Amino acid sequence: MQLETKRALFRPEEDAVKPSEAEKQYAHQRAAMIAQYTLNPKGVRNVWCLREVCLRCGASEAQTLYEKFGPNRRCRRCGETWYVNHCWSCSTGWIDSRDPETPTCSVCGWHKCAACNSCRILGCTTNPYKRGRRHSDATLLAAVDN
Ligand SMILES: [Zn+2]
Ligand SMILES: [Zn+2]
Ligand SMILES: [Zn+2]
Repeated sequence: MQLETKRALFRPEEDAVKPSEAEKQYAHQRAAMIAQYTLNPKGVRNVWCLREVCLRCGASEAQTLYEKFGPNRRCRRCGETWYVNHCWSCSTGWIDSRDPETPTCSVCGWHKCAACNSCRILGCTTNPYKRGRRHSDATLLAAVDN
C-alpha cells in the first residue's frame, strides 16, 4: 500500500514529458531564429542548429540525401530540399543553398564559398582553386614564404 502511494506521487513518465523552463526558452529562441532566417536567410550557413531545419515549414531533422549532385537535405514534412556542406577548399567556409551569400557561380554552377570564393572542385575560371590547390593550401604556402 505504501509503495503504491509512492508510485502515485512520483510519476517519472509525466515529469519527463513536461518541458522544463530551459527547454521552453530554447524552443522559443529556436522559433524566433527560424522566423528570422525565413524572412532573411543571409548568414544561415553559419547557424549550425538550422542546417537540419526546414525554413519553409519549421520542421526539424531533415532527411539526408546521398545524391552526388544537387540538394542533400529534404524536409520530411513538406518536401523542401536544400544543400548544406562545409567548403572543400578552405577550413572555415560553409555552403548553404538557402543563403544568398553562398550563391551559385555563374560560370560553373557550383555554390561559391563566401570565405574563400572557391566553387567547382575541378577548378573554375573565376578563381585559382581546384582539388590539388585549395584555398587553405595557398594560405599555408603564403605563411611559409613569409
Ligand atoms: Zn518543410
Ligand atoms: Zn571556402
Ligand atoms: Zn565557378
